[in-house]
Parts: sequence; structure tokens; C-alpha cells
Amino acid sequence: MDIKITADQHIANTYARFPLALVKGQGCTVWDDQGKSYVDFVAGIAVCNLGHAHPALVETISAQAKTLWHVSNLYYTQPQTELAAWLTEHSFADRVFFGNSGAEANEAAIKLARKYFKDNGTPERFRIVSMKQSFHGRTMATLSATGQEKVRKGYDPILEGFDFVPFNDIEDLSCAIGPATCAVMLEPVQGEGGIVVPGKEYLAQVRRLCDEAGCLLIFDEVQTGIGRTGKLFAYEHFGIAPDILTSAKALGNGLPIGAMLATQKVAASFVPGAHASTFGGTPLVTAVALKTLKILTEEGILDQVEEKGSYLRQQLEKLKSKHPIIQEVRGLGLLVGARLNTAGAPIVKECMARGYLINCVQDNILRFIPPLIISKEEIDGMIQCLDEVIKKEQSSDR
Ligand SMILES: *Cc1c(COP(=O)(O)O)cnc(C)c1O
Repeated sequence: MDIKITADQHIANTYARFPLALVKGQGCTVWDDQGKSYVDFVAGIAVCNLGHAHPALVETISAQAKTLWHVSNLYYTQPQTELAAWLTEHSFADRVFFGNSGAEANEAAIKLARKYFKDNGTPERFRIVSMKQSFHGRTMATLSATGQEKVRKGYDPILEGFDFVPFNDIEDLSCAIGPATCAVMLEPVQGEGGIVVPGKEYLAQVRRLCDEAGCLLIFDEVQTGIGRTGKLFAYEHFGIAPDILTSAKALGNGLPIGAMLATQKVAASFVPGAHASTFGGTPLVTAVALKTLKILTEEGILDQVEEKGSYLRQQLEKLKSKHPIIQEVRGLGLLVGARLNTAGAPIVKECMARGYLINCVQDNILRFIPPLIISKEEIDGMIQCLDEVIKKEQSSDR
């Protein structure tokens, strides 16, 4: 079977895939079906933070697979309980709801925000202020919350009740919050929107506006969470906390899991029957997620993210001073972007041919989201590759 041809015949055509079939991964390296290796600066889109086939996770999933994969949420299980306890111990939150993806975590957050005000005597508060260029998922509610036309196009009528303001602009947000607003929802650092880091004071100002207006603050940390920015959750950089936070992507290091975290006060509206998910928090997945979090925080990996991230940004800055095609380098921890004055796709393609997987968002922003266990040598190798690729691209342009 030719994987590419058969896939293109039988799988819904929603992904513009590279002509590359991956068969194996180990650490920060993946291999294709021809045996060629690639250093992986995509990591399943900020998912495999501990790399591929981490031995301790292989052991955890194997042991749990022999014990118990799945039972209904009609019953208690130990792995789900331990994971929820760990998450609440290590965050602002008191309660966790488990789903299977980032979109589902955000669905839960949107539902909870609305229900909280219904339960508390202000049913007219149902609107959510969200950000332009944001990304919150592909379900009807989460695409309605997403501030990018390309995600919403073709799906009218979208869900009512979402207002959009520019990210990192406190004046516009202040005007948009009204008596019908139940929550402000945003990514602490915009991911799909192009690795946009807000000004130092912005998130604290957002928190203050929410408090003054009596509405909730929801942080979508699906991409920024689980160590990606150098803290367990990105909100920790900013000296404030949300009322609701969503996590997914790296939480299971590649197993599908999403989680919505909330304070007791808000989570009180999620009573029996208010929300549910068949697969949410299954023992197999939560056992791996718990182990992922323990390895991340107890083996010094989280502590090194800031340093590795600033090293990567420094090296990119050096490339920027050599190549005017790079206009800006930005990011937090190992969530890093390089904005180009040209399309990123040819560069991504050429890096791939040379054994480095990188990614491009918003057409012209190269995104670097390697496993957090990436080494300095692997960063150096990618930078050298990028240097050569940009040189070649520019000489062929002339
Ligand atoms: C990826 C992402 C989502 C959607 O997650 P899925 O698991 O694909 O549903 C939501 N929000 C942010 C910020 C993301 O990066």
C-alpha cells in the first residue's frame, strides 16, 4: 500500500498534508517510511512535550493497558482522581472537567460560563468577548469564539453571543464589555494567531476589567499550558489567575485529553447531568497525563524551558540580523515565532527536505514548538539549516 495515495483516496480532504508519511518517533526525532530522519520542531503541534516514545510513558501506558482502559464516568477511577488532584494542587483551580480535546475543553468553559450566570439570577449575561486572531477550536461553539474568518467561513449561522476585540488592546476590551457579558476568553499568548505575546501589563488589566464588570475570565491554555512557555501554565508569568482555564494538547503528551479547570465558586454550576463525556478522563489517558506532568515538573524539564527558549530566540535574532527576510522574533519559553516579509511555506518545505520539521502559521510566521526536551545541539542544527535555506531562497529570488 502506498500510504499517501491510499490516504488521499479515503480520508476526508481537510488537511493540506506534506508528502511525508511518518512511521516512528524517538525523543525529538521522527522517521518517514523511507527511513529518513527528521528533527521535530513541530511536536504534533505543541503536543509531544516529552518527545516521542518516552520510555517512562511507554511503561505507564503498557501497565495501565494491562489493568484498565476504560469505564464509564458512572464510576470512580484512581488515575482520573489523581490527575484532578494534581492539577488542582498545582494551579488556581479547585475542580476539573475532563474531555478529549482542546475544543471540548473550551466547549465546557463556554457552557459553564453561561450556566454560572443563569444559576445566579442574571440569565441576560451570556455574551463572551473574545479576541481577533484567536483560535479556540473547530466545533460550532468554539469556531464561533474564534476570531479568524477562515475558521468560520461556510458554517453560518454561527452561535450567537460572541464579540471580538483586538488582542493586547485594553481600551477596546473595556468598551466591549457590557451588561450582557458573562466572560472574556483569550489565549495568554496567541498561538495559531501568530505567536503574539501581549504587553507585560495587559493580562492583569484584563483581570481588573473582568472583576469590575463582574464577569468571568477564561484562559485558553490549550497551546500555552503544560510547560510550553516555561511555567506549568502561562498565566503564572503575569501575576494573576483566571476563573476558568482550558488545557489539552501536551497534557497527555500525545494521548487525546482535554481538561477544563475552574474555581469552586464557578464550577458549582456543573451539577450531575449538566455536562458529560463518554471518554472524558479515561484511566488509560489520565494515567499517562499524570505521569507526563510528574516527569515534566520533577525531572528538571520545566526548569530548563525558559533558558532553552531564550537560547532559541537569541539564535533566531542572529539570523534576523543576517537576513532581512526575518522581520521579528517573538515568543515565550519554547513557543517561538519568526515573522517573515514573505511566505513561509517554501522555507518549511526546504527545511523538511533537509531533515528539520518546522511549521508556519498565518502564511508568514514560522513557528517553533519543539519537544521541551530539545537539546542545544538540536537547536543549533535547526538554526544552521534555516540559515542555509534562507540563503538559498534569497539567491534564487534574485
Ligand atoms: C489547538 C488549539 C485548540 C483546539 O484544540 P483541539 O484539540 O484541536 O480541539 C484550542 N485552542 C488553542 C489555543 C489551540 O492551540
